[in-house]
Amino acid sequence: MTGECLICAKHRGEGPLVGHRVWADEHVIVSHRPVGNDGTTVLGYLFVESRRHAPSLDALTEVEAVAIARAAWRAARGLRAELGPEFVFSAIVGRSVAHFHQHLFARYQNTPEQCSWMDSAAWPGSKRGGLDEVADLSARLALHLG
Ligand SMILES: [Zn+2]
Repeated sequence: MTGECLICAKHRGEGPLVGHRVWADEHVIVSHRPVGNDGTTVLGYLFVESRRHAPSLDALTEVEAVAIARAAWRAARGLRAELGPEFVFSAIVGRSVAHFHQHLFARYQNTPEQCSWMDSAAWPGSKRGGLDEVADLSARLALHLG
């Protein structure tokens, strides 16, 4: 829809949110969190997004909601199989960008209790990687989504 939407821009391959695309179909785009200024990111942090600009969960069509639920379920199973995490967390918040997106991310084994669920990567033992590691993991996750 709009020129200012950061997620619509991302889907066009533009802007600060662009990350490695893991999988997509006509309704859903699944991508990995982009690398930061240090050239790395936590591995196993995905975004499941509606291809159409819909501002929130309740604004999705039923067909889109089903497609997103299926993609999130498959991606969660992929994260479980590929990373063996303690948990796979999922969150739909939508306060920062008004384009439907679901966070889906691994909490690694032995993450200290003091790391909150939404900041699971904030400890030295979390698995980080650069573009090559993200591309490799994304390719493996895509097999679970296809
Ligand atoms: Zn948008």
